[in-house]
Formats: sequence, C-alpha cells, structure tokens
Amino acid sequence: MSTIIDGKAIAAKLRAEIATEVKILKEKGIIPGLATVLVGEDPASEVYVRMKGNACQELGMHSVKHTLPATTTEAELLALVARLNSDPTIHGILVQLPLPKQINSDTILEAISPVKDVDGFHPYNVGRLMVGKPTFQPCTPYGVMVMLREAGVDLAGKEVVVVGRSNIVGKPVALMCLQQHATVTICHSKTRDLPAKVKGADVVIAAVGVPEMIKGEWIKEGAVVIDVGVNRIGEKKLVGDVEFAAASQRASAITPVPGGVGPMTITMLLYNTLEAAKKAGTGDR
Ligand code: NDP
Repeated sequence: MSTIIDGKAIAAKLRAEIATEVKILKEKGIIPGLATVLVGEDPASEVYVRMKGNACQELGMHSVKHTLPATTTEAELLALVARLNSDPTIHGILVQLPLPKQINSDTILEAISPVKDVDGFHPYNVGRLMVGKPTFQPCTPYGVMVMLREAGVDLAGKEVVVVGRSNIVGKPVALMCLQQHATVTICHSKTRDLPAKVKGADVVIAAVGVPEMIKGEWIKEGAVVIDVGVNRIGEKKLVGDVEFAAASQRASAITPVPGGVGPMTITMLLYNTLEAAKKAGTGDR
C-alpha cells in the first residue's frame, strides 16, 4: 500500500505559515489584498470565487469581490482591471475563467499588471517561468510541486510523465519538473501508447479531465502518483484521472481525490498574494 500525500494537511500547514506572515506584514502597515472578478453566473465559478475570498479573510487578508453581469463588455472589464491595477490596497488580481464569449480571455489576462498576476497566467510571467526566473507560478502546478517537496520526492534524474498539456496545468508543471532536473515526457490526446509511457514513469502527474483513465496496472511499482484531475460523477462523487484503488496498490505515494491537489490550489493563490504584497512593501515590483 502506498503513502497518501495529504493535500489538506499540507495546505493547512502552509496556510498557518501564511497567516503568521500576514500578521507580521500588518504590523508594518501592509494588508495583503486580493481582488476577485467574476463575470456571469457559472455556478462552479461562483463556488471557486467564494472559496478564494473566504480563504483570504480566514488568513487576515483583504479581499474584494467584483461580480459583473454576463453581458459585460470587454471594454468594461478592461476598465475594472485598470482600476485594480492602480489600486494600492490590491496586490493580487484574479479574473475567474472562463469568461463569456464576447470577452477575449487573452486580452484580459494580458491587461492585468504582471506584478499583480497572482494566477501566473500573464505571458510575461509565463515567459519568466520558461527561462527559470523568479515569477508568480501558476497555482495548481505550484501546489503539485509543494506536495512533491513535502512528500520528500527528489526529482533530479527521475522520469516524470505528465499527462495533459494545458497552459494552466500540464505545460507549467512539466517546466517546473524540468527545472528540478527531472527527465520529463509530456503526453496528450495524440500520444501513442500512453500505457507504455506511464509504465516507465517514476513520477506520474495526471491532468487530463477524464475519470480514472490512468489505469492502476500502468503504474510502475514504487512510482509517485499526483492526480490533478477533478471529475464529477453524478451529483456528489468526485474522482480523479487515476484509478485510485488499483494505483495505490503499486505506487509508493499517491494523492487522493478529493483532498489531494485541490486544497493546494487556493493555498498557492494566497501564497502568491502574500508574496505580491511583500514585494509591494519593499518597492521591489
Ligand atoms: P484541459 O482540458 O485544458 O487539458 C486536458 C489535457 O488532457 C489536454 O492536453 C488533452 O490533450 C489531454 N487529454 C485529453 N484526453 C486525453 C487522453 N485520452 N489521453 C491523453 N491525454 C488526453 O484540462 P486542464 O488542464 O484544465 O485540467 C485537467 C484536469 O485537472 C481536469 O480534471 C480539471 O478539472 C483538473 N484541474 C484541477 C485543479 C485543481 O485545483 N485540483 C485545477 C485545474 C484543473 P490535447 O491537448 O491533445 O487535447
């Protein structure tokens, strides 16, 4: 049986550390502030934005929520982003995706000031990640890397297989593993013989969005498995992209769904907001 990499516990520990740092910053007169922007009424997005705002408040951060109607124009959203960019009480700006179709997401993400881009999606920050410069690292892949660190996994020389190549998870997590000296293979829907690729992996990172498509029998004995996938089955049940029960018979360590990568994502957003506030406090931005 494998060790469970407990995302809830790691997130709780990190949040306690962030709360301590927030207190210290407050004594210097700086309250880290996050602005969330939600356009339209997508129920899942509403839940995410609410959770992000609540998490900020729990840690003593300042949080402002902007809820705009689904009919909002790109110009109106750009005007809000511009106001937030110049608001000194706001250190991080998060525009919840997806946006309604009359708004170009790339235009909006590029309008957010890179020093307030706590989601790490601005091309400037993506480029800095690519060349290995300090930057805001996108929250989900950043959370994956923290979990690997906390689980004591040294990636140097390891075969890492990332399944999924999205800009928000697969590609950045692959880059981060490369920076930690892993040998990285990125798989996607056109990859030939995915089982063979996964079978060669010391570390498997699954970010696909297909329930339990990574079979337990593909996992090499003793491999580490990070399951980013969140797939809703029926009303209540959540499963990952990995066949957990079978995979946990072979893996040395594995993340559960729920309670794995999920809790880390918001925590890394809070961490990035804290970092943004610290930089603003030192004028290093
Ligand atoms: P995307 O849909 O943007 O990307 C999915 C990727 O999986 C694509 O690169 C796609 O390949 C690849 N893929 C799809 N089908 C297959 C297949 N049969 N074989 C191999 N590769 C395949 O998803 P995201 O990256 O946004 O999210 C991935 C999962 O992670 C989802 O379940 C999502 O809910 C979850 N997630 C969880 C978060 C968390 O906080 N825990 C945060 C973000 C996402 P191709 O490019 O060729 O189409």
